[in-house]
This record gives sequence, C-alpha cells and structure tokens, in this order.
Amino acid sequence: MEKKDLLSSIPAINDFLAAVKSKKIIANYSRRKFLKMLKSELEAIRNDILQENNLTNFDNERLDINKILLKVQKKLASEEKRTLKKVINAGGIIIHTNLGRSLLPQAAVDKVQEIAENYSNLEFDLASGKRGSRYKKIRKMLKDLTGAESALIVNNNAAAVMLVLTVIAKGQEVIISRGEMVEIGGSFRIPDVMESSGAILREVGSTNKVYLDDYLEAVNENTAAVLKVHTSNYRVRGFTHFVEAQEMVEAAHRNNLAVIEDLGSGILFDLSDYGLEYEPTVKEGIKAGIDLLTFSGDKLLGGPQAGIIVGKKNYISKIESHPLMRALRVDKMTLAGLEATLELYYNFEAALDNIPTLKLITEKKELVKKRAKKLITKIKDRKNIDLKLIKSKAKVGGGAYPLSSFASYAVEIDLKEQNIEKFIYKLRQLKIPIIGRIQNDKAIFDLKTVADSEIEELADSINEILSEVF
Ligand SMILES: *Cc1c(COP(=O)(O)O)cnc(C)c1O
Repeated sequence: MEKKDLLSSIPAINDFLAAVKSKKIIANYSRRKFLKMLKSELEAIRNDILQENNLTNFDNERLDINKILLKVQKKLASEEKRTLKKVINAGGIIIHTNLGRSLLPQAAVDKVQEIAENYSNLEFDLASGKRGSRYKKIRKMLKDLTGAESALIVNNNAAAVMLVLTVIAKGQEVIISRGEMVEIGGSFRIPDVMESSGAILREVGSTNKVYLDDYLEAVNENTAAVLKVHTSNYRVRGFTHFVEAQEMVEAAHRNNLAVIEDLGSGILFDLSDYGLEYEPTVKEGIKAGIDLLTFSGDKLLGGPQAGIIVGKKNYISKIESHPLMRALRVDKMTLAGLEATLELYYNFEAALDNIPTLKLITEKKELVKKRAKKLITKIKDRKNIDLKLIKSKAKVGGGAYPLSSFASYAVEIDLKEQNIEKFIYKLRQLKIPIIGRIQNDKAIFDLKTVADSEIEELADSINEILSEVF
C-alpha cells in the first residue's frame, strides 16, 4: 500500500462521532475534550505513517475506530487523574487529611467565590482610602470569639508553631514535656519543627509524668518559653501526671517566660454534650493566661486550611512585624472562607447547623441509618453477593478525639469468591471516585460521611462496578 492510500484510510472525525462509544466518552468528558484528544491521536498516526520508510511495518490495526477510541478514552482518563477532583468519602472519617479535611460551610463557599471573582478591600481601608491591614476584620472576630487580646492568621498550624517559636525563642531554650513530643503525621514532628525554628529544645519529665518542678528546674538565663502541645492524636492514660495550664502560667510568668500552647485541632465550644470526650477550648486556654495559642482552621473549627494564632497583644505585634510573617501570609480566599466560618460561631446553633464538620459530629445516628437504608435499597442484589446494613464506628479524624468513635451505619458487601481489592480499586478509578474500605474481607461503605445528595451516585457506581465484576 502506498503512503497516500494509507493516509486516506485514516477514519474521518464523523466516523468516530457515529460510534456508540464516542457518545459515552463525550458524556463523561465533554465534546471539546474528546475532539481535542481524538485529533491529537489522529495527528500522531498521520505522522507515524509519514515517517515510516517501510510501510509493511505499519500496523493496520492502528486505524481501527474502536481501538483508537479506546486509546482516546484511556488518555482522557489518565489526564483527568492528574487534577484535583471531588470524591465520595464512604470511609467514615469526618476530618480526613488526605481527603481535604473539613468541608466548607455554604456561607464560606459563597464568600470565597465573591472575593475570588471581584476586587475587594483586602488591604484597603474604606474609611481613609488608604492602605489597611488584611488581618483587621478576622482579628476582631477571633478576639470576640476567644477572649484573646489579639490574633493572626498564617497558612496552617505547622506554620503557626514554627513562626511563634522563631519569634519568641530563636537561639533560646524552650521547655517541653517528654509526654508531648508529638508526631502529627506526614512526618511532622514537634521536635523537628522546633529545631528548624532555631529554638533549643529542653525536654523534661517522662512520657507519662511531668510536674511543675520539672519545668522550674530546667529554667536558666537562656530560657524563653514553655511549650505545651496538645496530644491531639493519642492519649497517655493510667499512671500519669500533667501540669494544669493555670499553674504552669503562674510559675512561668514569675520567671518571665512566655507560655505557648499548640492546641492542634482547637475547638471553640465544648462538645462533650454530644458524646465526645472533654477537650479544652481555646477560650479556656486564654482564660488560663496562656500567652500564645495556635490551632488549625480546617480541623474541628470546620473552615479552610489556616493556622490561627491568638494571644497577648505584645507578642502578636512582635510576630506580625517579623519577616517570616510575609512568607507565611494567607491569601484572600483563605481569609474569605475563614471569616465566613467564624461569622457562624457568633451563634452556637447556627454553627452546629451550618458548619458541616460540627453538623456531622453532632448528627443523630438515626439519620445515618436512614441514609444507609436508602443506599441498600438502591444497590441491585445479585447472586453471589451478600448485602447487609451493619452498625459501624465513624471517627472524627484530623488527629482529634483519638479515643472517641461515633455509632454509625454502613452498607457491607460480601463478594464471596470475587477479588475484593479489585472491587475497591475499580471504585476509586471512577470519574467521581468512591473511597470505601475493606474490613474482614468485605467492602464497607460508611454513611456518616456520605451526604444524602450523594447516595444516588454512590449506588449507581457500586452497581456499575458490580456488573463489571460479575
Ligand atoms: C494537626 C496538628 C498540627 C498541624 O496542623 P496543620 O494545620 O495541619 O499544619 C500541629 N500540632 C498539632 C497538635 C496538631 O494536631
């Protein structure tokens, strides 16, 4: 065959569009993306023909419409994998760092959109017409909500801890209990952060016990601060002793030391009425006299990723004027999302109703059961599988409430002879990936973290993959 003939036997775009498979690809990705990928694929084939010296080497199968469409589909799928996208979290962990932690309240989403697509008074004082501070409004809110003298925001809590230590204790000693040398995950260890800030770590006490005297004996002329780290992702139980915040503050202040606390999750309200263990609130820390408290914006607070620093005005001013502050500065979208989230906290009921993280934590288990029932009725029962509604345990996650779990409900699918890993894997490769888990060789879909509006999609996906497996 001659090159000319081979080139003219490349199928036309219309031939592709007529194929059933094309319709499915277009429905999944859009016509524009499909045509773009198809054209680049055809171009590649054309180039290969032009460059081939010995046409007997050319594989005519490459001109097959269905083969080309399969290739286009695979390329679109792998292109899609590269971008950030929505997943359905059927794992039952509410604040899952790998899945993006807290879902933003609707009010925060709206505000982010408004600020993202318009100019704003980010650093502009509308009264004077001059340059203003980007932290002014959020500072006022945090003062109102925590009782602190002042506040600042940076990119995340790790940045907050690092910044505070750099400004307060660079080149000086910071006393920390051995029981609080926390590893947060993602290889973030408190001792490493402290070191990179230039502060010198002075460990006292033992893993399970530390007394005020241990701290006091470690004080010398080069000591700058005492650091408390909330052991948010584990608890030391049993034969233990720790120093109460107030006692620590009094002793530290007598010695002219700053008291810093990394609260980790940081809650504004006590949630122990909702079946969770008691956790100290930010307000209590401030009341006890802690000089600087840091916590995350996207853990229990339920807002966007951010590191929040609240505390004494003189320290906060010093931090604000440090050059690192500029490097860790948050953008307008973070500020917009956080402001709108904090706004909800002015009313406890509004916060519980409108902040998804708090809503899920305080939701009655009967509502979860209802969603589980709805899901199970939508999954097509088949021979060779066992479908069951089961009780399960959901968790807060995000390194918070390590010992608490919630009564929740899940749908359990027993695939018997079939490969369960493959089933779970295939669900993760969908356009809207489903994140389930395997427990005792069965697939578990926990409904705690699945919204009512996602059940239809979840059921369709499970049915689709089941029909492929069987
Ligand atoms: C989660 C956590 C951090 C890190 O916070 P990010 O906002 O993820 O940077 C630091 N300290 C403690 C105690 C934590 O629980």
